[in-house]
Amino acid sequence: MANVALHKVRKVYDDGLVAVHGIDLEVKDKEFVVLVGPSGCGKSTTLRMIAGLEDITDGTIAIDGKIVNGVAPKDRDIAMVFQNYALYPHMTVYENMAFGLKLRKIPKKEADGRVREAAAILGLEEYLDKKPKVLSGGQRQRVAVGRAIVRKPKVFLFDEPLSNLDAKLRVQMRMEISKLHRSLGATMIYVTHDQTEAMTMGERIVLMKDGVVQQIDSPLKIYDRPVNKFTAGFIGTPAMNLFEGKLVGRKSLTFKENGNGVSFVIPGRMRKRLRPYLDKNLTMGVRPEHIFLKSRPADVKRPLSFRVAVEALEPMGNETYLYFSTVKGSPHHVARVRSSEGFSAGKPVNLLVDIEKAHFFDSVTEMAVLQAGTGN
Ligand code: ADP
Repeated sequence: MANVALHKVRKVYDDGLVAVHGIDLEVKDKEFVVLVGPSGCGKSTTLRMIAGLEDITDGTIAIDGKIVNGVAPKDRDIAMVFQNYALYPHMTVYENMAFGLKLRKIPKKEADGRVREAAAILGLEEYLDKKPKVLSGGQRQRVAVGRAIVRKPKVFLFDEPLSNLDAKLRVQMRMEISKLHRSLGATMIYVTHDQTEAMTMGERIVLMKDGVVQQIDSPLKIYDRPVNKFTAGFIGTPAMNLFEGKLVGRKSLTFKENGNGVSFVIPGRMRKRLRPYLDKNLTMGVRPEHIFLKSRPADVKRPLSFRVAVEALEPMGNETYLYFSTVKGSPHHVARVRSSEGFSAGKPVNLLVDIEKAHFFDSVTEMAVLQAGTGN
């Protein structure tokens, strides 16, 4: 049972690089929190500071209310699972899992019980006397998780544990780790660069960029209410479409994409909120699932249509990603639509945007000025 509290935690490496700019984060007891962000954003550094593997330049980290800044990693009551699971090749699965307990001088009988219990949880019983080299990648990763479980730590830390596994196994291990979290009732902090892992596993997501926390929220909240343009673009696949443009008009208000792209009349309810941004540069964000073919769902009240040529398509089976651009040379946009034999590259399509689901960001500050569905 443990919570983990970071207060204004900063990390400056010896070469002067500021890897983490003062993080405030409270991970609750039994919570599963995912730190996510692009490579180099400081998530591993943060995790390693919690583990005690990296000094903290400023701020405090507390586990269960006790500040651990000066506490050695082995005395923090945490267990860490890494990407490269680093099993000892000459030891059996059993010995790999028991090794840390032996070092900690846990009595043999108790250690044996813990190893067998962990093996049962992870489905490793029949492999206990096997060497790592005969195991699959997923089984090895399970042994690495087992090594952490047997320690019965207060907090589990995971650093990109699934990166070395193939796509199918990753999906399976994602579910296994989530299940493990529920059955152990343990506090877990999990680092990944993969937004899908963050969305599917985290109870809360901490999204970082350049050493700065951008947003801390539940997966759905972060998806539905991104606070800025970065968050909007990072969470969700395919990514949210971003149209750069300006609000023009007096009585009515129209969003005009730069470079003679699309233009959308802003419906009444949203007008009031957007009026202060008249003539200012704005980014309009629309999720791919909020762009439809003509046969729109009945609940879309104010669809705005435009006609574009399909540039490329990715049929996924149940749905198809249609790629198009509205301004020559600008990044592609994508619509997620029901599959049809009728699509082909180069052919024009009439698309509809559910404008009430659009997000608007200040192009300069990149902060959200209007979040989807909040226009009234
Ligand atoms: P992430 O885990 O998000 O990919 P890291 O926490 O590993 O990011 O790194 C954050 C930044 O700190 C990066 O710019 C990285 O190059 C730098 N960095 C990481 N470790 C060290 C180190 N030991 N010395 C100097 N810079 C480092």
